[in-house]
Amino acid sequence: MSYESVVSHEVKAGDEFETRLKAYEGRRAAVARAGRDPVNAPMIRHWCEAMGDTNPAYSGPDAIAPPTMLQAWTMSGLVGRTGRTHAYDDLLGLLDEAGFTSVVATDCEQEYLRLLRPGDEITFDSVIESISEKKTTKLGTGYFVTTRMDIRVGPDLAGTHRFRILKYAPIRRTGQKPSPPDRRQTPARPRPVVNRDNAGFWEGVEQHRLLVQRCTGCGTLRHPWLPGCNACGGLDWDTVEASGEGTVYSYVVMHHPPFPAFDPPYAVGLIELAEGVRMIGNVLGVPHDKVRIGLPVRLEFREYEEELVLPVWRVQEVEEMQESDT
Ligand code: ZN
Repeated sequence: MSYESVVSHEVKAGDEFETRLKAYEGRRAAVARAGRDPVNAPMIRHWCEAMGDTNPAYSGPDAIAPPTMLQAWTMSGLVGRTGRTHAYDDLLGLLDEAGFTSVVATDCEQEYLRLLRPGDEITFDSVIESISEKKTTKLGTGYFVTTRMDIRVGPDLAGTHRFRILKYAPIRRTGQKPSPPDRRQTPARPRPVVNRDNAGFWEGVEQHRLLVQRCTGCGTLRHPWLPGCNACGGLDWDTVEASGEGTVYSYVVMHHPPFPAFDPPYAVGLIELAEGVRMIGNVLGVPHDKVRIGLPVRLEFREYEEELVLPVWRVQEVEEMQESDT
């Protein structure tokens, strides 16, 4: 990892600033609104199908809504009003001006106080519940902003939905030499999240070996790396090195939203290895709009920036196509 320090010259901090932030606690983030539709069976059915939740409590004449659908009843659709207040926008603007220009949603918490059933009509509003002290995270230094949405049926509180974001000043790499503005403003690619379960995979990649986990109990191969076998539950495993042959099993072309380190449009493939497991990776060698299901690809290891090696997949047998590495 080369992230070592935070560029802090553009970040105003100090007690006065934090006092201004704290003044937003308790202010409305969204004004009282009504759900777009009453709680209803078709939305419950679609949600359960999407989640694969077959609990019988969510169907039939006495159906209840799945409690975790709570936020769904508050959503206004693509063209709906947000109901967001000036207070919330002003708070985000204040953080922007002070250099905390990036935002990431970190987590949400829900509490369920009353079951919702088809026919219930909900109302909701939202308050800026808390703004943290300044925190330093792996992404950068900033402030966690928590909003709390209260969802009611009539006067009864049905549940609460807390939503937390981190507004932060992104970390820049140290030791960057002055370079043309377009290079300097290109953020670093996100690094893999290496943990004790997948460390062996990334150690293999560093040595230009693509290792697939194999259950020593039943022989089933698996990827991504996991502590146990989905087929037999066994916890013992070894690895086999992939041959590097594969085909495009599926793919997406990313257009939006733009992600800072990448230049859309670009194709991301789900590659089926000759060994049978699938993994996600960049597809190189053809323009993004020439990627197709079934294309044969071959493994390469590619270095991005310093210290970052990633397995990528180069399309085979289409030499007539224009070369493109995006
Ligand atoms: Zn097994």
